[in-house]
Amino acid sequence: MLNIVLFGPPGAGKGTQAEKLITKYNLVHLSTGDIFRANIKGETELGVLAKSYIDKGNLVPDEVTIKMLEAEVEKSPNVSGFIFDGFPRTIPQAKALSVFLQGKGTEISVMIALDVAEQELVKRLLLRGKDSGRADDQDESIISNRIKVYNKQTAVVADFYNTQNKFQKVDGIGDLNEIFDRLCTIIDKHQVSL
Ligand code: AMP
Repeated sequence: MLNIVLFGPPGAGKGTQAEKLITKYNLVHLSTGDIFRANIKGETELGVLAKSYIDKGNLVPDEVTIKMLEAEVEKSPNVSGFIFDGFPRTIPQAKALSVFLQGKGTEISVMIALDVAEQELVKRLLLRGKDSGRADDQDESIISNRIKVYNKQTAVVADFYNTQNKFQKVDGIGDLNEIFDRLCTIIDKHQVSL
């Protein structure tokens, strides 16, 4: 299997690039943010709980998030791999994912981080907020909290994969197709060595 963690702060372009990658590599895209938003829309119990955190720009508790992610993986048996987008966002999530995948006889192949400067992130998120209507992309104080949470709780997840020699970083600024090519170069190299 080819299991990719697409990493980076909010607004780095993970969702956009994941959509392109799933077509090229025939993978399943799992975005925890998208799954939470679908639950909020469907007014499920999980959605109501998640909303109280998402509205403030805080992380949904690990236990709930891990359980949800694992259930989503179980929904897609016999696939050639997954792109995890927005997960793992904490060390406990990374550890749980590792144990879970190990139980399935597989592992994360590579984590690729999209590198984008903070001012550019804020600009992109506000623009996305206008187009999508996402409340957490429209309020500058929520955006700034999300970036703070990323720096404090999520950035360390890169070290977790780095110590396993699975961490790669690409420049997330520029033309969408150029960024896509940067990602593909890393994935192709990785596939050869798998
Ligand atoms: P995203 O669409 O990835 O920017 O996620 C939107 C929001 O969903 C985040 O600000 C968090 O509140 C929540 N969220 C998404 N993924 C996770 C995760 N792996 N752990 C905790 N909260 C998450």
